[in-house]
Amino acid sequence: HRAKQGRQAMLFYSSDMNQRSLARIKLTTDLHHALARDEFELHYQPQVNAQTGQICGAEALIRWRHPQRGLVPPGEFIPFAEESGLIVQIGIWVFNAACQQMAQWRHQGLGLERLAINLSPRQFGRHLVDELLAVVNQHQLPASCIELEITETLLMKADEDVTATLNALHQAGFSLALDDFGTGYSNLGYLHAFPLDYLKIDQSFVRGLPDNHSNAAIVRAIIGIALNLELQLIAEGVENEAEAQFLASLDCHQLQGYYLAKPMPAADFVNLLQPSERSLLGY
Ligand code: C2E
Ligand code: MG
Ligand code: MG
Ligand code: MG
Repeated sequence: HRAKQGRQAMLFYSSDMNQRSLARIKLTTDLHHALARDEFELHYQPQVNAQTGQICGAEALIRWRHPQRGLVPPGEFIPFAEESGLIVQIGIWVFNAACQQMAQWRHQGLGLERLAINLSPRQFGRHLVDELLAVVNQHQLPASCIELEITETLLMKADEDVTATLNALHQAGFSLALDDFGTGYSNLGYLHAFPLDYLKIDQSFVRGLPDNHSNAAIVRAIIGIALNLELQLIAEGVENEAEAQFLASLDCHQLQGYYLAKPMPAADFVNLLQPSERSLLGY
């Protein structure tokens, strides 16, 4: 009797596994189609000067305009794209679309200094630098207006090739930002080993500032280290005035989060750009 139950459990388990791998295969095929049918789009979220509230940059964030499911957030497909390797093609699509948009805004005389674009560790192949330079050149953009957001995972397992690629990107004029800083269980010693310009404090440490005392202590420490290493700081996921004011009081340079603005389509983002002197801080 026990053996039979065990066997049934096994059967359930393996059919569940099969369904999950089928779902994965389906998602991978759907993502191929999405690329072919141009179903991806970029939304833009402003990054503001913490003292003045003025926009100094924006982050481009991918969404999937799915014919049945509607607007799908990246958390639901980027991990699969990374697993299957399709992130390389999606990543170049993102980079091209973001540069095209940035070039258009610059032609229109809209004052956006910098556009941040996320890079997956899997994009760090031999041709990355040449590919990215070809795209910025095609759109007649200086590399200096593009900030590349990289992950701690990339730095933690960075070999000589990755390090050389990061140095070449920096040499070419791109800014480098370390995204989601503090989530990677990494040691701080590596920070100075790479040509970083920006450090993005992960939103989990911003939550509940200043009342959340452990977050306040962590954020103080991160800001202290970053200022010593002459890195620019961007706090992510700022959701309210208390968080914004505390971060500004600690000399965090830039803020990004729903309190300032949610990510939005390009057509809406231009409305934020027009009155360029405007502050997004509510106080
Ligand atoms: P990320 O790069 O850390 O982007 C910040 C995420 O935080 C975005 O989620 C943004 O919408 C969200 N966010 C911003 N402000 C707030 C806030 O005040 N509160 C809360 N709760 N969330 C806030 P999103 O757009 O869903 O993107 C999730 C992640 O997907 C990104 O995290 C990034 O890791 C990845 N991703 C997005 N676009 C791309 C892309 O083009 N390429 C790659 N490789 N990854 C991407
Ligand atoms: Mg990012
Ligand atoms: Mg982030
Ligand atoms: Mg994040």
